[in-house]
Parts: sequence; structure tokens; C-alpha cells
Amino acid sequence: MPNQVTVVGAGTMGNGIAQTFAANGFDVVMVDISQEFCDKGVASINKSLARLVKKERISEKDAQDILGRIKTSTDSAAAAAESFIAIEAATENFDIKTKIFKILDESLPADAVLGTNTSSISITKLAALTGRPEKVIGMHFMNPVPVMKLVEIIRGHHTSDETTNTTMELSKKLGKAPVAVNDFPGFGINRILMPMINEAAYALMEGVATKEALDDVMKLGANHPMGPLGLADLIGLDVCLAIMEVLNDGLGDSKYRPCPLLRRMVDAGDLGRKTGRGFYDYSK
Ligand code: NAD
Repeated sequence: MPNQVTVVGAGTMGNGIAQTFAANGFDVVMVDISQEFCDKGVASINKSLARLVKKERISEKDAQDILGRIKTSTDSAAAAAESFIAIEAATENFDIKTKIFKILDESLPADAVLGTNTSSISITKLAALTGRPEKVIGMHFMNPVPVMKLVEIIRGHHTSDETTNTTMELSKKLGKAPVAVNDFPGFGINRILMPMINEAAYALMEGVATKEALDDVMKLGANHPMGPLGLADLIGLDVCLAIMEVLNDGLGDSKYRPCPLLRRMVDAGDLGRKTGRGFYDYSK
């Protein structure tokens, strides 16, 4: 079996996934649409490795070895042809993922697994685009990938036990803690996390308490490391809203209706840390 993994997308998640595989001895080809995007991905990996060297978690030689196992390419078909698994971690857009899935399905060896890191698109729907639905699976890594333990392993309607077991074992080889869930809107984590964030936005809108107080009750009373509003700012309010829309559309229960305050803040461009302002002000 080849030792090579193809990761499609060199953005936030793709470069983290590539780094994690390479750090655990796998050869990785990280693919993006242009060399410039590939180079940006490698620069992020470099930065992350330099931090680990500085903290003495890995040696300078380890960092060089990890980098040496990562190649970049703009040709996903050629990379996939030599890989035992491909993980799609491109932009969260169904049309983009459709194109990538068709190429990967045609190019991967017949027995290879096709994984996706999507946060909100149905695994079953993506699998149906391929001739190998039993080998398509969600591998939902958390951000930042090298740090976060959880990988949600999401079984589509036709995903086989064999594919699930192989992917769970592979995740353990990456030092991760895989958790199996079935393919429902929001999967496991966002089904629970996003309604909590949405409810915190309602509580703020209704004047239940200040934003600081709402975050404090969850930090001090539920032992959460961050409060829901601070966490929403970190994730991005646009991302939170998009996932609430997926839950609302996919489950059709009014308890998932996005909070109007959340929607208004997204309309205003206050998306959280990435724009300098969300529930909190980050401009200073
Ligand atoms: P990103 O915008 O940082 O990166 C996406 C990358 O995909 C970009 O570099 C883009 O150029 C590339 N891309 C677009 N079309 C492509 C194509 N046809 N071929 C190859 N590359 C292509 O996005 P991200 O935050 O890394 O998210 C990637 C995926 O991970 C999404 O499905 C997202 O839902 C999921 N996800 C994100 C997070 C998060 O916290 N950011 C967490 C879990 C899952």
C-alpha cells in the first residue's frame, strides 16, 4: 500500500491536515488551485513548526523531516493516482467540492478512501457523486488541526464498516481521538455547539445579561474554556450563521432559527476576530 496521502486545499484546514499527516510519517501531496496558494500553505506549516521547535516540542531536524515529507501540486488527479487516501479540504462550496470529488474518484486507486473535511455538506450527497460511495467518509478535523484531538468520523448512508474502521485507525495513528457519528445536518459537534452559540446571541439580544456575563456563566458554571460569544468571534459569525442555516433547513425545527442579532451583525460585516469586531472589539 502506498504511504502517500493527497490533501486537496492548502488553506487553514488543508495545511493543518497535511502537517499532521507528515508529522506522523506519511508522505503528503498538498494540492491547491495555484502554486501561490500552495506556497501560502507551506508558509503556514513552516510557522507552525517553528513554534513547536521554539517550545522544544520537536527538534529542528524533526521540523525539516516533516517539511521534507510534504510536496505541493496543482494537479489533484496525478497526486490521487499514487495515494491510498485523499482528503478534500477545499472551500466550503458544493459546486467546488463536486468538481474535486469527480476528479478524485476517477484518479484514486479502486481501493482508496475518499475523505472530506466539510463542516456542513452532507457526506451522503458528496458520496452519491462518486462510483465508490462505500469508500466516502467525513473526516472532520478541528481548527487548529495539529493541536485539537477530535476528528469526527462521519458515516454517509452507504459508507462501509471497513471504511469506517480504517479511517478510525488512521486517525489514531495521527495521535487523534476519532469519534464516529452519522450523517445528519451539523454532524455531532455543530449540532450541539452552534445552537448554544445561537442561544447566547438570543440571550444577549433579549437583554438577559451583558455579553461578558453570558460568557462568564458558561466559563465559571460549565467549565467551558471560552464563553459562547467569545467563541463565536473566534469561529467567525458568518460561519456560525451558515451552520445555523444548515441546521434550520436540514432539520426544519424552529428551534434552529438563526438569531436576528447574529444575522444583523453578519450583514454589518462584524464577523468576529477576523474583521476586528464581533461581539467583542479586537481593534486594539
Ligand atoms: P480556506 O478558505 O482557508 O481554504 C480553502 C482552500 O481551498 C483555499 O486555499 C482555496 O484556494 C482551495 N481551493 C478552492 N478550490 C479548490 C480546488 N478546486 N482545488 C484545490 N483547492 C481549492 O478554508 P478552510 O477554513 O481551510 O476550510 C476548508 C474546509 O474545511 C471547508 O470544507 C470547511 O467547512 C472545513 N472546516 C473548516 C474549519 C475551520 O475552522 N476553518 C473547521 C472544520 C472544517
